[in-house]
Amino acid sequence: MDYRFRFAAYRRPFKTPLRTHHGLWAVREGIILSLRDEAGRITQGEIAPLPWFGTETLKEAIAFCTSLGGKITTTQIAAIPDTLPACQFGFESASLHLADPENLAPLPPKKFCQLVRRSPNLYHNLEHLLKKGFRTFKLKIALDDPTTEIALCQHILDTLPTDGYLRLDANGGLTLEQAKYWLDWGETQGKLEFIEQPLAPGHFSDLLRLNAEFQTQIALDESVAQLASLENCYAQGWRGVFVIKLAIAGFPSQLNDFCQTHRPDIVMSTVFETAVGQRALLKFSQDVFPSQRALGMGGSLWLNNQMSP
Ligand SMILES: [Mg+2]
Repeated sequence: MDYRFRFAAYRRPFKTPLRTHHGLWAVREGIILSLRDEAGRITQGEIAPLPWFGTETLKEAIAFCTSLGGKITTTQIAAIPDTLPACQFGFESASLHLADPENLAPLPPKKFCQLVRRSPNLYHNLEHLLKKGFRTFKLKIALDDPTTEIALCQHILDTLPTDGYLRLDANGGLTLEQAKYWLDWGETQGKLEFIEQPLAPGHFSDLLRLNAEFQTQIALDESVAQLASLENCYAQGWRGVFVIKLAIAGFPSQLNDFCQTHRPDIVMSTVFETAVGQRALLKFSQDVFPSQRALGMGGSLWLNNQMSP
């Protein structure tokens, strides 16, 4: 199939910069693709790079799009190199119609996990989200000393209703000793869903050992950001939770093959894409490989709706 395409870069500022162990993130930048096939049908795709998760930069993605001169074929899409995983996702999801709005069933709030901001308004925001029907929440940790953070998390867990869940994301920022402290605390927390990436990806053997040693569930995120690293961690024996950021994982078709073959325990997650990337994420998680776990795409507290060119 031959396509003609256009692309436009976008910038979306966060309402408040997102603070993680990787640093402050103030503006989400990406590219919206519009592909027109030979029959004149137009589909969209989104390139939403996340360089600190191993993807190309926005500049590299723009250079790649520009180099194509407004035309691309199915064969060229399949040949996008692994060094451009966000472009692999953007072009293939457009060609597979993953971002089409048709037949997308609305999901209830309890199917979404909301990332809550560490601020004086935390409990107010939590109450507001609970009233709206959300039940799964996520908090960034490894930003302060563990004793202070555990006290905060214990209080949040005590606030949640019995059907509530909390996910904690360290973004690889804990030491081995701190990770053990957190996991030990987690053993008695029924509403703690998992601790995400307690150690940096370079400490994979420690992560494996911790996952065997503790009942508290551990999810890998930075360790499995692209398909190759996901396959590698699986091959080395990881059977805990996998966080999959579809928009940066590479080709959705290859991810689907992996999921159908190995049936991993996954959480699908946003990288703060626009509605285009989000539709592809929803479609994948509803029709392609559904997971029982809440979708990590509750960004309503974080982004302004307006897109600036
Ligand atoms: Mg994470």
